Amino acid sequence: MRTRDTRTMAGKQHMASIVWLLEEYMPNHTTNRLIVTGQKVDVDAFVLKSRGDDGSSLSFRKFIPCSESIDAQRIAWGTKWDAYSENLDYQGESPLALLASASLDDDSEVSATYTFDTAWSEPSKVVAAMIEQHPELTFDHSYLYEDGGGGHAGRDYSTSFEDGSEEERDLYISMHGVDPWRTCCECWRENTSDPNPDYRICEDCEKDQENES
Ligand SMILES: [Zn+2]
Repeated sequence: MRTRDTRTMAGKQHMASIVWLLEEYMPNHTTNRLIVTGQKVDVDAFVLKSRGDDGSSLSFRKFIPCSESIDAQRIAWGTKWDAYSENLDYQGESPLALLASASLDDDSEVSATYTFDTAWSEPSKVVAAMIEQHPELTFDHSYLYEDGGGGHAGRDYSTSFEDGSEEERDLYISMHGVDPWRTCCECWRENTSDPNPDYRICEDCEKDQENES
């Protein structure tokens, strides 16, 4: 029979190092949405500038150059990693198509929408740098923390909201397309049964848990 070692000092250190590993390599994600609006020629230039050297659609490095050390990045960007799981929704144009059309006169207003994840916290310093470097563009940044709460930020405003708030619910619906107040936190299926305000779990998952215990 194996003895549980969590009561010993060595066990405690072992647990502490597991917690450290989880925090370092499996962070809570912050889901971000950044809408960049302006004249087409300016948004084109921003989209080209934002591209990472690895082909990603967004790299914080393009706004705040920084060494690849996690500590340096955390200080420079306000989050330890570059953007990941990023996606760009912008007229379906490839970078080559953008370059080809960049010389055309076009003063219509357009928007590029970036969605991406960050580790633990939103990249507030990067968005502030974008706003400072691009007075010709409008930035609308929304973010949701994995463990609840979030906020909005732009050139002249910044708001934050709590876990379980109406604002969080509205943003969650607009970013993820599901209502968090009616979504089971175990299977992530939307369920129409009367939601439990503290721990929203569907009847199927509740039955599974009762059977396990
Ligand atoms: Zn469920």
